Amino acid sequence: MKKDNFIVVLGAAESGVGAAILAKEKGFDVFVSDNGTIKEQYKSMLVENNIEFEESGHTEEKILQASEVIKSPGIRSDAPLIVKLLSMQTPVISDLEFAARYTNAKLICITGSNGKTTTTLLTYHILKQAGLNVGLAGNIGKSFALQVAHENFDYYVLEISNFQLDHMYDFRADIAILLNITPDHLDRYEYKFQNYINSKFRILQNMQSDDTFIYCSDDQVLIDEIGKRTVAPESWAFTVSDDSSKQAYLKGGNIFVNVRDGFNIDVDTMQLQGKHNYGNSMAAMLAAKAVDIKNEKIRESLKSFKNVEHRLEKVPFLVKGVEFVNDSKATNVNSVWYALDSMTKKVIWIAGGTDKGNDYSELYKLAEEKVKALVCLGIDNEKLKKSFGDKIDVIVETRSMKEAVETSFKLASPGDVVLLSPACASFDLFKSYVDRGLQFKQEVRNL
Ligand code: ADP
Repeated sequence: MKKDNFIVVLGAAESGVGAAILAKEKGFDVFVSDNGTIKEQYKSMLVENNIEFEESGHTEEKILQASEVIKSPGIRSDAPLIVKLLSMQTPVISDLEFAARYTNAKLICITGSNGKTTTTLLTYHILKQAGLNVGLAGNIGKSFALQVAHENFDYYVLEISNFQLDHMYDFRADIAILLNITPDHLDRYEYKFQNYINSKFRILQNMQSDDTFIYCSDDQVLIDEIGKRTVAPESWAFTVSDDSSKQAYLKGGNIFVNVRDGFNIDVDTMQLQGKHNYGNSMAAMLAAKAVDIKNEKIRESLKSFKNVEHRLEKVPFLVKGVEFVNDSKATNVNSVWYALDSMTKKVIWIAGGTDKGNDYSELYKLAEEKVKALVCLGIDNEKLKKSFGDKIDVIVETRSMKEAVETSFKLASPGDVVLLSPACASFDLFKSYVDRGLQFKQEVRNL
């Protein structure tokens, strides 16, 4: 039997615990259940708020009594418990869907396959520098729900993943940014790319004509999909080509923004470099224009923004003339494409790890042009070796970051760059992409 006003939260990490606290404050009965162990910090938050919880397993009878379930994005939508709940018509929603019910703040929502974190942080930086009362949340930093419970922001910049979008129904973005769509996470979408595209396009649901949709018109997948749909909000496109019919474009080393009182900025004055980052910056600038931020403030913020760690992050010194770049967060082929594309020197490329079904063919041309040696860093390097065997002259295998960095350094000449841009997840040899990136920087310091 279902009970009224009984919310079950599945997954007790940042987003789940925040949602549980908000639900409790809004007068619901709340029960939190986690299949694994719950971190101490989250347990004490639950205890402090008098919220009942369990760990290391789910008590199904109790969970099935929920009037609504808030699911952590890490739990698959086809997990047996979720399937059962859905078959009982129990709504299963994401923490963002839940929290958005309780705020009137303007929501600037950012999604895409790559560039979400960078664009979210940059947008937040611009709004904050402009003096707006703005929060940062979503797939990043502190729980959105917890901030809705305890803060009083006028704006939120939200990074939203497809797994959250899959469980959002009435949520309405005021400004939505869709950066790009390239194949990723297909294992959670029955290996059908269209399912993943549909998931990303949920960002547009409920948007109205006075809202703003910002997207990249260089992405054919986006263009094709937009062509099939009716898009309600005002649409602003950005492109890294010289196309002045778009709302933001690149011309002669300047980004031009063509909405409201337009302006331009010399890209050499910006912290974020590389074509993909010009696109990300345009998206953030358009969002800033949509909330009427002054051009001068936007320019200043682009100059002062610090790039995010592990994303095309230059190690701040050369070793015997060799440069090192940490792009550990590049866990799919498309992000490596942009990394290689932005390199202006000969590259010693460190790649490999846990393959997510990669098709490397889109990298062949760049690899032939720019890569001097490929240093494979993974337990199983066969696919990389096979893919690049006739494209790159030198291919070596390594099994630790120390070995990979030392080998790369030996292969490099002054004026070359050693680029860690793995195209793969990190879990075979590292705890996470962060661990992988930190080890890279440490081994460079040890040289
Ligand atoms: P996300 O949060 O979507 O994973 P990040 O900003 O963390 O995105 O960047 C992830 C990786 O993708 C990094 O290697 C980064 O250099 C690369 N990247 C950033 N923006 C883009 C983009 N617009 N297109 C392709 N790759 C990008």
